[in-house]
Amino acid sequence: MDQDQWPSDAAVFRAWVDEEFVPRALERRIRPAVLHRAMAEATFLPEVIERQADQSEFSLPIREYLDITASDERARIGRQMLRRHRDLLNRIEMTFSVEPEVVAAIWGLETGYGVVPGRFPVISALATLAFRGRRAALFEDQLIAALRMVQTHKVKPETMFGSWAGAMGHGQFMPTSVLGFGVDFDGDGRLDLWGEDPSDALASIANYLKKHGWKTGQPWGLEVRLPAAFDYGLAAPDAARPTRDWAAMGVTDATGGALPDYGAGTILLPAGHRGAALLVLRNFLVLTAYNRAQSYAIAIGHLSDRIAGGKPFRKAWPEDQTPLSRTDVVTAQVLLTQAGFDTQGIDGFVGQNTERAVRAFQAVHAMVPDGHLDSAFLDQLREIAADPG
Ligand code: CA
Repeated sequence: MDQDQWPSDAAVFRAWVDEEFVPRALERRIRPAVLHRAMAEATFLPEVIERQADQSEFSLPIREYLDITASDERARIGRQMLRRHRDLLNRIEMTFSVEPEVVAAIWGLETGYGVVPGRFPVISALATLAFRGRRAALFEDQLIAALRMVQTHKVKPETMFGSWAGAMGHGQFMPTSVLGFGVDFDGDGRLDLWGEDPSDALASIANYLKKHGWKTGQPWGLEVRLPAAFDYGLAAPDAARPTRDWAAMGVTDATGGALPDYGAGTILLPAGHRGAALLVLRNFLVLTAYNRAQSYAIAIGHLSDRIAGGKPFRKAWPEDQTPLSRTDVVTAQVLLTQAGFDTQGIDGFVGQNTERAVRAFQAVHAMVPDGHLDSAFLDQLREIAADPG
């Protein structure tokens, strides 16, 4: 067959929209008029597929990540935004019981306070991912939710811009989050997450946090100092204890002062035992609902502290630390499992099972059992695996 006779991506996409997606959307009660209006202009966006494929398998060391996300500059602009929007943020706090600096931190990290809300037409981006992306079913659900925004919130499809993955507006809400937590805070009858006036978008961020259990008056967490004889086996993500128990073990705040009673919390070592130790509280978990990455929640929490006038972390992060690529994590998981420390699967992601295996390995081999998987650990693991002696 002549190459030219193959249908183009655009044509296959159009056929998918008309013959497959539209009937499913009708079944899910999207009205024909809405579908027609929103999907008529939808196009296949090859760049979206490239972006999804390009998601880096490398991550930054926490030190570099925080330098970018919770920079002095971002904190300084955050304080400016608190002043500029003081009245709005105060009303939001009265309504949703979420502190202004926390809302501002999410705004600042997601879009640089509304400067970079994303340039992709969301309906087309989501349709592209639902048509040919990885996790297509998930993106089809998001596409349906986006159409429901058009249907019930009178959002004009041509105004819906966002990230390649469909996260929209000042707070980068996915469509399902918009439906669940979007608030028309200025009461003009429209949900506007994009406009010059960030009222709806910022109130939606606060509502999202409130509905996920944000506790006002409590920090997300704080830097702590661990006693010299600290049992690092206790610093595991599934090992929350009351603050007073940590205090009884000799854990203090970063200056050596007594810990206020903040309820239950977990000790987190984002860079292992050589970096800062954090006591993270219930609100930290709320932040991980916004974005599952632990480093993201730390960045939001820390940026909110910095916006509120707080200081940088006292303890420096190790400078020589390189996080592992997914391929290296796979190698570590294989070696650990072969050595009898089962990671419960080889997937290239460091989850609780892998962390537990790392700790067990460290404990047996006279290392500090902080569960931290970095290049130095992998080097030692390789050495020991090559010569189990
Ligand atoms: Ca509105």
